[in-house]
Amino acid sequence: MPEPLLVIENLHAKVAGSDKVILKGVNLTVNKGEVHAIMGKNGSGKSTLAQVLAGREVYEVTEGSVHYQGRDLLELKAEERAREGIFLAFQYPVEIPGVSTSYFLRAAVNAVRTHRGEREISAPDFLKIVKQKMQLLHMDKSFMNRAVNEGFSGGEKKRNEIFQMAVMDPILALMDETDSGLDIDALKTVSHGADSLRGPERAIVLVTHYQRMLNYITPDFVHVMIDGRIVKTGDKDLALELEAKGYDWIEKELAVGA
Ligand code: ADP
Ligand code: MG
Repeated sequence: MPEPLLVIENLHAKVAGSDKVILKGVNLTVNKGEVHAIMGKNGSGKSTLAQVLAGREVYEVTEGSVHYQGRDLLELKAEERAREGIFLAFQYPVEIPGVSTSYFLRAAVNAVRTHRGEREISAPDFLKIVKQKMQLLHMDKSFMNRAVNEGFSGGEKKRNEIFQMAVMDPILALMDETDSGLDIDALKTVSHGADSLRGPERAIVLVTHYQRMLNYITPDFVHVMIDGRIVKTGDKDLALELEAKGYDWIEKELAVGA
């Protein structure tokens, strides 16, 4: 029996303090071990969904529910969600000048461990994990001593996000347009890195505008989001169909059905 990790029911959300409604009834169940892709035109609400799941307070949930590991996720603050194993790789990664990647990551890893009642990770153990993940993502060693994302190219930031994700070992990995701005080699590396995170205890939700990342990481399910709702679900072939035909045919299909 598949074990549900994330259950989203009739989720409505708007921009906090405004009447801009973005999510208009999202339903989605993600089981452990699965990889889901959420595709859709720009402006359909994909990033908002990822942000709402991560607990960004810019958005306010007005209706519906989200359960994660059987618990009400919406009750948890963003940092609690992170400690519970939810990791969001941002569409636009932030720079943290003056804070080395190594310091930042070790602090983040230890916050999660402390929360789980585990001991802080030792420096040698931390280095071992870091080395292994850097190899996986073909990253340069100098990287760990540089400030977080400062002066990184777009591709380096993305690679860094996936690297951080690999080190953090999340239970629910959310990736928002991780494929945008990558050249083909970086795309392959990042996608393989993400694919290597697949595991029976973990689920990955990829939000993407393009299907090209899905050439390297095969989703179990592909969902189409239009105007704040998931309106169609299929397998990887749906992504290819979207690539070939765009999104308009789905809107027409919906209009006929309505
Ligand atoms: P996608 O990621 O699918 O391109 P988004 O979730 O980023 O879509 O945005 C959905 C819609 O909501 C867009 O029209 C966008 O301009 C709007 N939107 C998102 N966030 C905000 C915000 N903080 N304030 C105002 N409008 C927003
Ligand atoms: Mg987006």
